[in-house]
Amino acid sequence: MKATLMYRAGYVRVNDVPDAKIIEPTDALVRVTRACICGSDLWPYRDMEPGESGRPMGHEAIGVVEAIGKDVRKIKRGDFVVMPFAYSDGSCEFCHEGLHTACVHGGFFGNAEVGGAQAEAQRVPLADGTLYPLPIGADEALMPSLLTLSDVMGTGHHAAVVARVRKGGKVAVIGDGAVGLCAVIAAKRLGAEQIILLGRHPDRIALAKEFGATDIVSGRGEEAVARVRELTGGFGVHSVLECVGTDQAMATSMGIARAGGAIGRVGVPHYESIPQAQPMFYDNITVGGGPAPVRAYIAELLPDVLEGRIQPGRVFDRIVGLNGVPDGYRAMDRREAIKVMVKP
Ligand SMILES: [Zn+2]
Repeated sequence: MKATLMYRAGYVRVNDVPDAKIIEPTDALVRVTRACICGSDLWPYRDMEPGESGRPMGHEAIGVVEAIGKDVRKIKRGDFVVMPFAYSDGSCEFCHEGLHTACVHGGFFGNAEVGGAQAEAQRVPLADGTLYPLPIGADEALMPSLLTLSDVMGTGHHAAVVARVRKGGKVAVIGDGAVGLCAVIAAKRLGAEQIILLGRHPDRIALAKEFGATDIVSGRGEEAVARVRELTGGFGVHSVLECVGTDQAMATSMGIARAGGAIGRVGVPHYESIPQAQPMFYDNITVGGGPAPVRAYIAELLPDVLEGRIQPGRVFDRIVGLNGVPDGYRAMDRREAIKVMVKP
């Protein structure tokens, strides 16, 4: 089958690889109908050291179950499923607590061990716990939004949950990538009254406004902090949804969170320690977040997608076939595309 492999910074290609197949009795084999390129795929695209064999890429997908192992009970052949970016057993202590990304038997897609979803097919470990069967068939119009439930919409929602977004609250979203845009949707959905987007790209800002952003701040650093404080009566916001992962984004978060506020981090941190420990302490600011347990959120978000109340699939502004995946990486890296959908 064809699958996407990354060999070094700036170099991905689509190769013929051995077909994905059932290995463990709890596995399912999913024929990928839609996958996508993630903002987090761009980190190795910028700094990966050359490797010999190439890393299978892709961790977001929807598709059709083609085969199941002999111990799979709930998932059936022919099911149309969402595949969250992490696999999980659905039965351990952490899965019961709703933190599937800490599953004691779990792991992540997009590596040599389980393969990647920017491919024709994907082996899915712990199929009963991992996959979410959809109650509908392959509806073309809903495909993009359903696909976001495998990562970006669930991740934006996680930022909002961790940052304790509430009805009538003041919220800031840092980052105008696909996750930041989904975080705007999540904040609006949870009833935030003011949603300030910190971002710089005109096309993304336009979409954020349609999703519910009330104010836009395009400056950086101290300038951004001053502007957000000005927009919030001088005190800052209750909830910061940090969707970037740089030390500057974290420092800005600390600067704009009001006393007693919370910061939800979902951008993979590219810094060693959290800045501003003193103001964080004296202002009673909570910092939380991490890999989103998107599996836990699908049941809550799905009805809003099916009934059209939210349309997170609008973050996709380019569609490629498998052979177009390398171009897709280039387009996202150059900020020519917000998020690229892959249609194998
Ligand atoms: Zn578990």
